[in-house]
Amino acid sequence: MENCLFCKIVSGEIPAKKEYESENILVFHDITPQAPFHVLIIPKVHISSMNQIEDLDPLITREIFLTIPKLAKQNGISEKGYRLVNNCGDFGGQTVHHIHFHMLGGRHMQWPPG
Ligand code: 5GP
Ligand code: ZN
Repeated sequence: MENCLFCKIVSGEIPAKKEYESENILVFHDITPQAPFHVLIIPKVHISSMNQIEDLDPLITREIFLTIPKLAKQNGISEKGYRLVNNCGDFGGQTVHHIHFHMLGGRHMQWPPG
C-alpha cells in the first residue's frame, strides 16, 4: 500500500527497532513508547483497521494472537501482566491506518483509558 507508514516499515523503507519477524507478521517498538515495553504487532499485508479484519487470513490473525504471550514470556512481563490495545477509527484514536495491536507492559496500567 503506497503511502502507508507501516507498509514502509515492512518493506524496510522506514527503519524500526524490530522485536520479532516472521513471513506474515512484524513486531516493532513504538517510536513514542507509553510504557517500558511498548511494541506494535502488525500483519505484513495491508489491512486498514479492525473493521477489515475479515480480509486477513485467519491463520495470520491466529499467529498475531499466539505471538503475544510468547513476546510476554520473552520479555519477562507474563506474570505481572500487560495490556493489548487496538485503536479503531477516529473515535478509537487510530492515527496509522494499517491495523496494529499495541502491547504495553512493565508498569501498572490505569483504567478507564482516556
Ligand atoms: P495508533 O494511534 O494508530 O493506535 O498508533 C500508532 C502508533 O504508531 C503510535 O503509538 C505512534 O507512536 C506509532 N508510530 C508513529 N510513527 C511511527 C514510526 O515512524 N515508527 C514507529 N516505530 N512507530 C510509529
Ligand atoms: Zn499498510
